[in-house]
Amino acid sequence: MSDTKKVAVIGAGPAGATAAYVLAKNGVDVDLYEASAHMGGMARSIELWGQVVDIGPHRFFSTDPRVNALWLEVVDGDYVMVDRLTRILFRNKFFRYPIKADDALRNLGVTEGALCLGSYLWHRLPGRDGDGGGGGGGGGGGGGETFESWVISRFGRRLYRHFFKTYTEKLWGIAAADLDSEFAAQRIRGLSLWEVAKGALGGSRRQHRTLVDQFAYPNEGTGQVYRLMRSRIEAEGGRVHLNSPVHSVTVSGDVVTGLRLAERDLAYDHVVTSMPITTLMNRLSGVPEDVAAAVRSLRFRNTVIVYLLVNADDVFPDNWIYVHSDELRMGRVTNFRNWTPTLTRGRKETILALEYWCFDDDDFWNWEEAAQTELARKEIVMTGLVGPEQIVDAKVVRIPKCYPVYRRGYREDLQKVVEFLCRYSGLQVIGRYGAFKYNNQDHSILMGLLAAENIIEGFDKNDLWSINSDYEYQESSLITETGLVLKSD
Ligand SMILES: Cc1cc2nc3c(=O)[nH]c(=O)nc-3n(C[C@H](O)[C@H](O)[C@H](O)COP(=O)(O)OP(=O)(O)OC[C@H]3O[C@@H](n4cnc5c(N)ncnc54)[C@H](O)[C@@H]3O)c2cc1C
Repeated sequence: MSDTKKVAVIGAGPAGATAAYVLAKNGVDVDLYEASAHMGGMARSIELWGQVVDIGPHRFFSTDPRVNALWLEVVDGDYVMVDRLTRILFRNKFFRYPIKADDALRNLGVTEGALCLGSYLWHRLPGRDGDGGGGGGGGGGGGGETFESWVISRFGRRLYRHFFKTYTEKLWGIAAADLDSEFAAQRIRGLSLWEVAKGALGGSRRQHRTLVDQFAYPNEGTGQVYRLMRSRIEAEGGRVHLNSPVHSVTVSGDVVTGLRLAERDLAYDHVVTSMPITTLMNRLSGVPEDVAAAVRSLRFRNTVIVYLLVNADDVFPDNWIYVHSDELRMGRVTNFRNWTPTLTRGRKETILALEYWCFDDDDFWNWEEAAQTELARKEIVMTGLVGPEQIVDAKVVRIPKCYPVYRRGYREDLQKVVEFLCRYSGLQVIGRYGAFKYNNQDHSILMGLLAAENIIEGFDKNDLWSINSDYEYQESSLITETGLVLKSD
């Protein structure tokens, strides 16, 4: 790459770190600006009580050979394959998730199981709930369909109530009937009761994303990937500036000219940004009122994670448990002891992470740490998993803006923002809150990779806005113990 152009990347989460990594590797002059003191964004790992933990559970999974090859290149063999065990806590019972027919039947009982099946068959009748079936059709989520109608048409109303409604409403803070079906289409795409049953009977050749039962995990936590990227960026001559929040992107007419830090303006030919799209837009000059109104309608949900140090080494066997029970406010509890032994650094205690979701203006977001901790202690004891005397310490981590809310109608508002941003040459918008996309690490990595390619090979090659969590690449692959395996379907 002989281009002498200067590039700035904003944010060192998976999206921004990947963009800077690929640019530096290809000889591009790149600066990576990160507001916080660490690499990895929401996918960072932290040291706590002498052990390593992630910001909630962070399972990396992709079928895209480009993403998997890059991840393997960075991790350089320092990973293990982790067997996934996850369950749902509902009505004081633990249900296997992904749902297993025999386990669900045992827990629900034969009568309730029959009612669930009846409800599913009823909703599969042509003309029911706007969908009429489709056990495995593509995603999309268009046509005004809601999360609720999408799931009911594939699982029936009873199973929807048992396994989807409470958790979804805790997570998003709005009624499932007001949530765009895109969330379901992205995260449980192509899955239905029929697919689950086929899987259980061995009739499905393709493994669904949601059903993956093994995943690759770095020995030093998920954030190891992004720490390693930093060393490689710097080794290739790129510069990583931590504790450097970018105030805004600067423009002249329809051309990006660089960015503004707290006290100075810096000139760049290209800016790749993964800072929250709302912050980016609020600080851009010349945004028309209808676009500004669309920006105001985009909302994020926050997470409060309460880590508990538990004086026991065998609390429960799962990587994480989804908490559907509506008497409990927490939504999920992760047990880091069950990921890889290197995380515990030989310590005997267990670290649990309890997740609570809220909006900026919910009281809970501003509760004192002591009150949040108290609630977490009380709730984990209520699950029966831990006794009160076993909890020896607690710590709260707050993660703002981590879930872009796919409220019904949000797509029209986002589209206005996208159209406005597309007029700027030299600007690329990537990442989870950066592009208002409910990305997992793999999708953010892919956006970073393609943004870098656009700069290296010339703009317009890759349309980043078209990358959703449900995209499919022409080739498929899997990370195994020994590296990458290409698959032909
Ligand atoms: C509780 C939880 C569980 C999750 N579980 C999984 C999982 O199991 N598997 C999975 O793959 N993914 C999971 N994710 C999602 C994953 O963390 C994200 O997909 C990923 O981190 C998104 O990367 P990103 O780079 O787009 O954004 P981020 O990780 O949010 O990174 C953005 C970065 O930009 C920085 N920044 C913001 N504003 C500025 C500014 N003005 N100037 C400079 N820097 C700025 C931030 O500090 C941050 O470091 C989970 C997320 C959460 C919160």
